[in-house]
Amino acid sequence: MTEAAYRNDFLKEVEAHVEAGHEVKRCMQCGVCAGSCPFGPYWQHSPQKIFMMIRAGKREAVLSSDAMWMCTSCYNCIARCPRKLPITHIMHGLANYAHRLGLAPKGQPTRDFAVMFWQNLARRGRVNELKLTLGHYFKDGIGAGIKQGLAMKAVGLGLYKAKRLNPLEIFGGHKVADLSGFHAIVAKAREIEDRKRGLAS
Ligand code: SF4
Ligand code: SF4
Repeated sequence: MTEAAYRNDFLKEVEAHVEAGHEVKRCMQCGVCAGSCPFGPYWQHSPQKIFMMIRAGKREAVLSSDAMWMCTSCYNCIARCPRKLPITHIMHGLANYAHRLGLAPKGQPTRDFAVMFWQNLARRGRVNELKLTLGHYFKDGIGAGIKQGLAMKAVGLGLYKAKRLNPLEIFGGHKVADLSGFHAIVAKAREIEDRKRGLAS
């Protein structure tokens, strides 16, 4: 086991850097969230287990897990937790922290799509749906992209006829009126968030 795999101070690290991380220590391990989560039987670790692993100092196992990326934000766990822990926020906070540290599992589909979506949106202040869709289809190569595009051609045609898809968007697409102002807002928000989480470089 590597040094990074186990750290006694991991709970403190989570409290300092992860959204709502200070709430983890209030978990009483009742298991209600694990039993309530629709992903219960399918994912690697339930929130209950993740919180136990954090307290046990299993840093590497938690941060490299894809469990946090599976959370669909259904809020079932929050509604039922007897301690009212903001479980959903902690799960997303852990995913974000792992991503910032470069420890998130490579090729995790939710992470890959989230990164693609954010880069698409942040460029011009509006989502370019055509580029986002094509980026998603072709992320595994040209052959896979063509196959996926052909499989979805009826949907694409329907969107085009309903004027919900403009092929000319490929040349740039729409954007917010004040693009430099938008970029300044995003940069400032990032700066404030990083300071708050102790992640400023
Ligand atoms: S329901 Fe709440 S208290 Fe119970 S294990 Fe889950 S997070 Fe902990
Ligand atoms: S919000 Fe996430 S962790 Fe909570 S029950 Fe839903 S999928 Fe599971």
